[in-house]
Amino acid sequence: MTTTDYAKLTWQEVRDIDKDRVVILNVSATEDHGPHMPLDTDTVLGMAVANGVAAAAPEEVLVMPPVPYGFNEHHKDFPGVIWIGPETLIAFVCDITRSLAHHGFRRILLLNSHGSNHPVLDLAARKTVIETGVICVSASYWNLCSERINEHRKSETGGIAHAGEFEAAMYLHLHPEHVDLGKAAAQNLHDPDSRFFNLDLARGGGRAMLMRWWSAVSPDGTMGDPTVADAETGRKFLEAAIEETTALVREIRALPILERVDHH
Ligand SMILES: [Zn+2]
Repeated sequence: MTTTDYAKLTWQEVRDIDKDRVVILNVSATEDHGPHMPLDTDTVLGMAVANGVAAAAPEEVLVMPPVPYGFNEHHKDFPGVIWIGPETLIAFVCDITRSLAHHGFRRILLLNSHGSNHPVLDLAARKTVIETGVICVSASYWNLCSERINEHRKSETGGIAHAGEFEAAMYLHLHPEHVDLGKAAAQNLHDPDSRFFNLDLARGGGRAMLMRWWSAVSPDGTMGDPTVADAETGRKFLEAAIEETTALVREIRALPILERVDHH
């Protein structure tokens, strides 16, 4: 069985491999996740999903080395944040997808694990389709499994946004030694009177968007409620994310390659 780890392939293996495997590229961030979690949270969680998909569907995917930086200049008041401009990130990701298309891959999934990358990767996927003709899909992993997050969550609406219940529970499940809930505080900023502003990732967030400076809205970098997180719920969240992302990968593999029609 060929490895699903793109970086572990030889060039001959890349040449000969099934080009309808879905190539998964996780794009994340290096940024504050409250006083209770490390800067690498988005990368650890995104790669746990990607590698979980690879374990579930080893003949159907390849997992790229991740891009561990993202669009998050609004976080830079918190020490440690490394931010990439949106134009730079689009260009960088499109260079990766263009390389994959050059080698013959036809199906790419940009798997996002950092909120503000969502519009950036949406544009990168659209640009890839226009420039290369290959199938390139972008998805933020929490959107793929939001119903199942809501089945298992303990927090109220607003509890799952950034370093809140969802991320803290999964990191606790994966690497409890890197999470200190003793330092966590609930920062639920949800306004139940607003019809449009809602940043809860699993309950309709993002109908209307205003991304303020993070330091203006959160005293410690948290948005949500990590205090109710536990490892067993984290296991369920991660399992849901892996299963739904695997289902998406199988749909991507089944999509027809369509030809353009020039009607001039
Ligand atoms: Zn995060």
